[in-house]
Amino acid sequence: MNMIDPFGRTITYLRVSVTDRCDFRCTYCMAEDMTFLPKRDLLSLEELDRLSTVFIEKGVRKLRLTGGEPLVRKNIMHLVRQLSRHLESGALEELTLTTNGSQLSRFAAELADCGVKRINVSLDTLDAGKFRQITRWGNLGKVMEGIDAAQAAGLKVKLNAVALRDFNDAEIPEMLRWAHGRGMDLTVIETMPMGEIDADRTDQYLPLSLLRASLERHFTLTDIPYKTGGPARYVQVAETGGRLGFITPMTHNFCESCNRVRLTCTGTLYMCLGQEDAADLRAPLRASEGNELVGEAIDEAIGRKPKGHDFIIDRRTSRPSVSRHMSVTGG
Ligand code: SAM
Repeated sequence: MNMIDPFGRTITYLRVSVTDRCDFRCTYCMAEDMTFLPKRDLLSLEELDRLSTVFIEKGVRKLRLTGGEPLVRKNIMHLVRQLSRHLESGALEELTLTTNGSQLSRFAAELADCGVKRINVSLDTLDAGKFRQITRWGNLGKVMEGIDAAQAAGLKVKLNAVALRDFNDAEIPEMLRWAHGRGMDLTVIETMPMGEIDADRTDQYLPLSLLRASLERHFTLTDIPYKTGGPARYVQVAETGGRLGFITPMTHNFCESCNRVRLTCTGTLYMCLGQEDAADLRAPLRASEGNELVGEAIDEAIGRKPKGHDFIIDRRTSRPSVSRHMSVTGG
């Protein structure tokens, strides 16, 4: 029953984008004036549950809800509650989500009650003014309340920051001390050329090899084999006692160990974040009450999972490598 791709990689990790909508407009992620999918094109929560369940039956052990902003999808906790039965049965090892934290204070306790143990919160700066600038209209105070609520509910929080040249690079040491002081790991991410945005990605892009070299002037970083099932490579920071992760799709891709596929809120399956090829699962899902057709469509899609992506950011390449924004598939 396992899903094994043509390169021998077993697919055990599904990311499900439950909405392409978000209450922020991060400048490296979206244009200010975005056109979102009409609501009628979305899979219902029941369909998302059914499709996720088919993947779990086919060997998915870790499922991450993402977006857009997953916590702005109406009744999202209904889906989380439904999916939590797979934690209880032991079919699923982990149910988690990636969020911007804006709605977390409302949902943290219920997430914990549904068996969610760890969440990722995206946070690119600790400065309220810069936060508003990068998110275009986010409120840092609300996110901080969300992080407080998550920790109070017993959720383990990891922070994700996209490293942006001349925006937050100088602030990473402070973010690291702050995160580790509160018992949170921090992961830094290279910006990827996905979708048209208003800004110039060449100006924003910061190779993490440079960031690491500059952090090593302040901190002692030791590579460690710690893994969370995702693509980050971790170091231990001697001065703070915490972990720092590096996600380097540009300078060092991690495709050889890729174990995941991504489902959008319309039932489109992307086998690679950095390629356009996709498979429609909505039609076979709706064509029959049984799961045979959709199961076959999934097998066919996994059979064409590509070896890897070929993201490029440089002055000669003005077009994004893939036309869709990160908000379609989520992080
Ligand atoms: N709204 C949720 C959040 O903010 O975490 C989930 C979706 S968001 C698209 C997931 C992650 O992708 C966030 O950490 C965001 O910073 C990151 N992201 C968005 N666009 C990106 C890009 N072009 N390159 C790298 N990371 C990106």
